[in-house]
Amino acid sequence: MTENSSNGDKTSFPWHIGVYDAHCHPTDTVANLESMPRMKAAGLTVMATRGQDQHLVAEAADTYGFVSIKEAHARASDRISSGAQQQHCIVPSFGWHPWFSHQLYDDSDPNLSASDNNKTLSIEAKTAHYQNVLSPRSEDHDFLHSLPDPLPLSQFLDQTRDLLREYPLALVGEVGIDKSFRIPEAWLPSQSEERDSSLTPGGREGRRLSPYRVSVEHQRKILKAQLHLAGEMQRAVSIHGVQAHGVLFEVLQETWKGHEKEVISKSQRKRQGKDIGGEAAYTSDSENGKNGKHGGESKTPKPYPPRVCLHSYSGPPEALKQYYHPSIPTEIFFSFSSVINMSTSAAKKAQDVIRAVPDDRLLVESDLHEAGDRMDGYLEEMTRLICDIKGWELEDGVKCLKENWMRFAFGDAA
Ligand SMILES: [Zn+2]
Repeated sequence: MTENSSNGDKTSFPWHIGVYDAHCHPTDTVANLESMPRMKAAGLTVMATRGQDQHLVAEAADTYGFVSIKEAHARASDRISSGAQQQHCIVPSFGWHPWFSHQLYDDSDPNLSASDNNKTLSIEAKTAHYQNVLSPRSEDHDFLHSLPDPLPLSQFLDQTRDLLREYPLALVGEVGIDKSFRIPEAWLPSQSEERDSSLTPGGREGRRLSPYRVSVEHQRKILKAQLHLAGEMQRAVSIHGVQAHGVLFEVLQETWKGHEKEVISKSQRKRQGKDIGGEAAYTSDSENGKNGKHGGESKTPKPYPPRVCLHSYSGPPEALKQYYHPSIPTEIFFSFSSVINMSTSAAKKAQDVIRAVPDDRLLVESDLHEAGDRMDGYLEEMTRLICDIKGWELEDGVKCLKENWMRFAFGDAA
């Protein structure tokens, strides 16, 4: 494929350095997956969200997944210098999105007993589950019965743990909390015949929205279980948060409670005769003891994830600070997409936020539902915007965003 210079007056874009999409959904349009190796982006972080796409992300990883961190690093320059397309270009990510959180039930709840070994709930238990987790409470039994049979949370976690073992570079995501969404109404028979079969099922696809939201309490439970899994497996997490920035921070805080790093102030260090730098944080001795044998990189299971990306971050700039407290043992990144963050209503806030995010915690993403030229276009657009806002030269910016993505995805191993 020839690179056309449609950008005209713009400076040419340094794709050869390597642009990595921190969050996207190409498995929503399966037919376009084959275009991924031809894209200009060097790597994509491919999110799973619901029952219908976990296996699609795994299958995409079988064909297109990076086999090593080294390969992920080298892809950008290798394919340019060799002129050959390199098939491997994605990192898979397995998780359950808040928009589908009602489709999981808490099987540790003794009130929700399953009727068989597959843990399918009886119609009464299914109704009770949906009445518990949907708000306002619904008495519309036709609607409740039309919803999918919910899956046991423990079963989903076991399957995800297996996938994370099978794909050692995989992340956890997309997970999160969303206070603004409402679940769609059921498909009418006539609609389901006319639906676009090129799209992966389970999405909204223009269906009308019901009045029902998923309770924040239930969303917290599903999120927290997945954060613990990420901690257990020591994988990074991609998080969706809409109108829930306080709650999201609370849930994260609960996962690292009791594991905060000890913060030693400048004056304390001086008193102890240690070198004088800024504020510094140390992991407590007991934790160091456990991790020492890995030479710094911890693979020891923890209740909190090692790294988190708040994707398409839409909170206010003032809320950023809490995430940078030196005692927080999770490294928090923020990624931005031109679709969500640069809509006319959100652009001003996003600019202030991007300016305030430390340079080494910024990521770029497309959040797009199909691979191909459009995805490249969004990544280029957002990268240029970030560089403008930060006052970076384009090449320096692309390099910085690449290094940040490597650290987010692979941690110290990068
Ligand atoms: Zn997403």
